[in-house]
Amino acid sequence: MTASLLDRLMDLETAVSYTTPPPEGERPFTYQAGDLPILISAPHATVHQRRQREKGEEEFTGALAQLLAETTGVHTLYSCYRSMDDPNWDRVSPYKTTLQEIVQSRGIRFVLDLHGMSNRHRFGLALGTMNGRSCPHFEPLILQTVKEQFQQTSQGTAKSYEELRWNHFVLNHARFTGGVANYTVTRFAAEQLGVPALQIELCSSARVVERRPLSQWRAPFRGQPDAIHQAVILLQSLVAVLQAAI
Ligand SMILES: [Zn+2]
Repeated sequence: MTASLLDRLMDLETAVSYTTPPPEGERPFTYQAGDLPILISAPHATVHQRRQREKGEEEFTGALAQLLAETTGVHTLYSCYRSMDDPNWDRVSPYKTTLQEIVQSRGIRFVLDLHGMSNRHRFGLALGTMNGRSCPHFEPLILQTVKEQFQQTSQGTAKSYEELRWNHFVLNHARFTGGVANYTVTRFAAEQLGVPALQIELCSSARVVERRPLSQWRAPFRGQPDAIHQAVILLQSLVAVLQAAI
């Protein structure tokens, strides 16, 4: 099962061009409609620009967003070409304007904003809720879902989980709160649109199937198949419990 899942993610990631600018007249992101009133957003799936500084793509967040849409029926919005702005950082951006249009026209009632972080933080998953403010009624449910998932994970055989600390997660780590002080998608959804939102950061090992040739991250890299599989199950579980609760 894991092998076909990884193949599917590799396939879906080819819809994402990390460094190519969008064709004339097109936007650097794409939207696919779903059936559930939940939107998964991946604004950093491609190279983007923060204060004139180029930032590398958060690999496979675009593939994971598409996979989640395909397997659960959520709506998805993800960057698919190089962005000349930072959709998650800039106060006003075409990405956020589009997200607003989708939320309002499609009756979206929860936004999951998916990001990637490097392995150097030494934890597998960071959840950002603006210290509880972005989804006050859902935070306990989200935490319970993650804890249950990791209990199952740690009963498994893979010793590498501990090395990876994939099952080590943090809530509202100083770097990944979802934006109490800056203009993240999570904050935009919660404060401007009045829709509960959660920022999810996955470490490289739990999302990068295999680094692609045009990646801005130069060194060859392969994530942990089991951790990627668990990450997909966790995202699907979050959708299922949120769907039942909204
Ligand atoms: Zn990001």
